[in-house]
Amino acid sequence: MRGNPEAHRLLAPGNLRAVLELMANAPGEWTPIAGGTELMVAHAAGRLAARNLVSLWGLSELRFINVQPRSIAIGAGSTFQDLRAHPAIVEDFPLLAKAAGWIGAIANQTRATLGGNLVNGSPAADSSPALLVYDAQVELVSARGNRTVPYSEFHTGYKTNVLAADEILLAVHLPRRFAHHRQYLRKVGTRRAMAIAKVALAGTALLEGAQMREILLAGASLTPFPARLYRAEDALCGRTLTPELIRNARAALLGDVASIDDIRSTAEYRSHVAANLLEEFLRSLMLEERKS
Ligand SMILES: Cc1cc2nc3c(=O)[nH]c(=O)nc-3n(C[C@H](O)[C@H](O)[C@H](O)COP(=O)(O)OP(=O)(O)OC[C@H]3O[C@@H](n4cnc5c(N)ncnc54)[C@H](O)[C@@H]3O)c2cc1C
Repeated sequence: MRGNPEAHRLLAPGNLRAVLELMANAPGEWTPIAGGTELMVAHAAGRLAARNLVSLWGLSELRFINVQPRSIAIGAGSTFQDLRAHPAIVEDFPLLAKAAGWIGAIANQTRATLGGNLVNGSPAADSSPALLVYDAQVELVSARGNRTVPYSEFHTGYKTNVLAADEILLAVHLPRRFAHHRQYLRKVGTRRAMAIAKVALAGTALLEGAQMREILLAGASLTPFPARLYRAEDALCGRTLTPELIRNARAALLGDVASIDDIRSTAEYRSHVAANLLEEFLRSLMLEERKS
């Protein structure tokens, strides 16, 4: 059944302070709405439980990309089009720029925000794997003040997170330390465009000769919520890249992957493809290392 607009109230106070005051005065009563590309779909399907919506759309305090010498801060209200078009994101964080180009169609990308993608918390979200392998921090804000947590600790379960009832996501901070890391991101979906990930794998790796100095791995649709693939990382970190190590890493990855069977794919297919993607990334590293 379609949603009834009269069952909801929408306020657009127009500045961040007023939004936070509203949420502080009635914690849990107000649901933020940014681009609305998740919430309006839920509304159209008659699934939107929130009665009171407070708009974040157009707040300048949330829509910015600040480039500092050691990090980049991205406001949660930045759209995926903002990310794709920003030279510093394209240059320093190409995996995020690539993922931004995967969100729906161009029309979605001009409306869908980074904050909405993260807070919605889908295990298939396109931006999450890139942020995890760039070691992102997320900054949260409420009328009580600001706090920052590692993005790898933001999600606590399927579509749950550490946000308090009066808090919103303010910004994502990315350390500019990946210039010398090899970077990988591949998504497998039903089509090349407008497809939710059956599986995706992201990785950043720093090599010294054939030795893996650092590796960060994350996937989409492999775990109940966006998370790093720590077992596979541990199997690789500090070791020399060999065909045997790749076999071990494939096996370790299967320990990270939760069985997700849904309409898009089976758990068995996902595990197999994820291990293939990891092998593709690691083999590309070996090849580049041999050439250098
Ligand atoms: C046709 C279509 C195609 C899509 N394709 C993809 C795709 O390929 N890949 C993909 O990952 N997603 C896809 N999506 C999903 C969606 O576009 C994204 O998740 C988008 O980033 C959501 O952002 P939004 O601003 O529209 O969120 P909204 O709908 O406004 O909000 C989503 C959730 O986040 C909360 N929220 C938003 N901003 C904040 C904030 N700053 N602080 C606290 N809470 C906040 C809201 O309360 C809500 O719970 C698609 C959606 C559509 C309709």
